Amino acid sequence: MREIRLDPRRNEWIVISSQRASRPMTVVEKRSCPFCRDSPEAKGKEAPYWLPNAFPMLSPDEQGTPALTGAYQRMPGKGYCEVVVESFDHSADLCDLTPDELESAMKLYRDRYVELSAKEGVNAVLIFRNMGKLIGVSIEHPHSQIYAIPYVPPIIQEEINASSETCPICEETRVEERTVFSYNSVKVVFPYAPRWPYETVVIPIRHITSLAEATDKELREIGMSLGRVVGCYHRLFGVKMPYVLAFHQSPVLNSKGRLHLHVELYPALRAPDKLKHWSGAELGFGVYTYDFWPEDKAKELASICEKNETLPISSKGLPEPNAI
Ligand SMILES: [Zn+2]
Ligand SMILES: [Zn+2]
Ligand SMILES: [Zn+2]
Repeated sequence: MREIRLDPRRNEWIVISSQRASRPMTVVEKRSCPFCRDSPEAKGKEAPYWLPNAFPMLSPDEQGTPALTGAYQRMPGKGYCEVVVESFDHSADLCDLTPDELESAMKLYRDRYVELSAKEGVNAVLIFRNMGKLIGVSIEHPHSQIYAIPYVPPIIQEEINASSETCPICEETRVEERTVFSYNSVKVVFPYAPRWPYETVVIPIRHITSLAEATDKELREIGMSLGRVVGCYHRLFGVKMPYVLAFHQSPVLNSKGRLHLHVELYPALRAPDKLKHWSGAELGFGVYTYDFWPEDKAKELASICEKNETLPISSKGLPEPNAI
């Protein structure tokens, strides 16, 4: 069963899906990998490619009647869940791809955003990537995911609200001291008030509000920036950095609320052997704390990125972190 329930305590939608419990709980390795070139799932495809998620949170076929009044509101768990495989290489992260391969991956994300935006009932398309066993990734082969959902996510709505008068993302393209690196059309910055120890934001300098508005050059440089910053994360401690990245943009192609496209990256380690954990103040109250000085951390990451200018930056052979 799939259902989207409104948590009445916070007026926040929660996607509930009991099928998900049957997905693999042990990590799927190379010999049984569904994303490698010879697998039945990938047969006849060229990378990058997309396929439907085998264990979807949401399904276009989900039946049910919405109940949008009263104390306990719900809607059927209708939507689309897809997987994007950027490379047939079983151990290639984004940093291991060439600029051409990264550009192709960005074009595929854009095409999926455009197509899913047009589906009935879809009000937001979420493009994201989870990397690393430590944060619970169940298929070893690096991949990204797309959810097309019937409501606008709270973080996107907050960011749309915060940019109603002036654009805070445009403002960030003008900062100097928190710059990690830049290409012609794209800048990578450390946030002014981060939540994660080495959080970064990849920003196209032009105020474009979705991948669909990006030129080929911008798509290429967004992809190169993602590859480079991910490579620098792996170089930071010399271990494979587990991370999440999320594309923030206008929820769908024609949505009324518009948001300057940017990609947020949340690496999970604070030290080679220490994971960032959420504290009581953070989880229990939303009072986030940051244990470092952001400008210092920006410099630390910038100095690593300076040395790793040219893609690909191989992450192969780096050990998995032994962190708690
Ligand atoms: Zn594979
Ligand atoms: Zn802007
Ligand atoms: Zn954002």
